[in-house]
Amino acid sequence: MKKETKCVHSGTRLDDKVYGVNTPIYSSTAYLYPNDLELVRYPRYSNTPSQEAPAEKIADLEGGEAGSIFSSGMGAISTTLMTFLRPGDHVVFQDGLYGGTQRMIRNQLERMNVTQTFVSSSDPQDFAKAVEENTMIIYIESPTNPLMTVVDLKGIAKVGQEKGVLTIIDNTFASPINQRPLEHGFDIVVHSGTKYLNGHSDVICGAVVASRELMDKIQATAVDLGPTLDMHASYLLERGLKTLAIRVARQNENAMTISRFLEKHPKVRQVNYPGLESHPNHVVAKEQMDGFGGMMSFEIDCDDGGVNDFMRSLKLVTAAISLGGVETLVTLPAKTSHSYLSKEDRQAQGIEDSLVRMSVGIEDPQDIIDDLAQALERL
Ligand SMILES: *Cc1c(COP(=O)(O)O)cnc(C)c1O
Repeated sequence: MKKETKCVHSGTRLDDKVYGVNTPIYSSTAYLYPNDLELVRYPRYSNTPSQEAPAEKIADLEGGEAGSIFSSGMGAISTTLMTFLRPGDHVVFQDGLYGGTQRMIRNQLERMNVTQTFVSSSDPQDFAKAVEENTMIIYIESPTNPLMTVVDLKGIAKVGQEKGVLTIIDNTFASPINQRPLEHGFDIVVHSGTKYLNGHSDVICGAVVASRELMDKIQATAVDLGPTLDMHASYLLERGLKTLAIRVARQNENAMTISRFLEKHPKVRQVNYPGLESHPNHVVAKEQMDGFGGMMSFEIDCDDGGVNDFMRSLKLVTAAISLGGVETLVTLPAKTSHSYLSKEDRQAQGIEDSLVRMSVGIEDPQDIIDDLAQALERL
């Protein structure tokens, strides 16, 4: 099946009582035993049909053997890291990961006596150099927030294979429609399903996809820690996933159109979008991605007051955190995701105070462009 078809059909559990076309919401927390399947069903084991359906759909979309869903992206990420780490282990992390992941590293992994090296380049050789004798994991994101840096996935996967280290990627920004890291040799894919997978800014959830062997280990940890997705939310996630391919295709198109408009605008200094030839990682992105995604950032040619005026002048585009929904949202990384850094540290990373991050929705692109244009004109 092609990905559009997988979105609609993969994983669906037939309703064999009244023959509805959707997976029913199996809301029970108590199941008879012994039963025909000799299987103990219990929601914390994530093995009710309502939970299995979206897990299988996501696994199919990522091209993995098995998958599991979680109560949040952080539930998926922390459970995965906890599964493979013991005191004394070392992890190679990419610098500038999602803020919640960085926080988890500081608050939980350091307490567990797990040491880390943060690699600030996107060159696989620099990741190879950071691997030590006790390194268990290399963990990255691509494209990254907010500058949309793209990492060479085959290169990183090869480093992991050569050094015998697990490779994990947070694939939230690209979604499996645009990028399937397991095909490039990665071991594990994690997601905040809150973003593109559910896609309607109304469910918090996460997902992990890997080989059956790795997934069994991660799922065993999940049973201990308990970050299970409720059956009603699982149903909403399955429903959201059915339109993932067409939503992302539209977001790819819209983002391309809008990035070209912004690139030509005299009041915009720089546009960071991997689909633009001007993006430093455009060639790698083209090689490993089917589409360039709906995430971008751009720097406005103005002072701090100007960027606030710009944000306030927007009428359709909404200033709100989070991303990946059907509506176009903007944030100022200097005031949100990167506010914990000093202005100097942000500038050293290339994040100016006038940098705007945008999650492009599925609206008509001309309406978004008109709104951005009128807000830029006021500057
Ligand atoms: C939002 C996000 C997360 C965390 O997901 P939650 O669902 O909020 O727990 C992790 N990684 C990335 C890239 C994200 O954008």
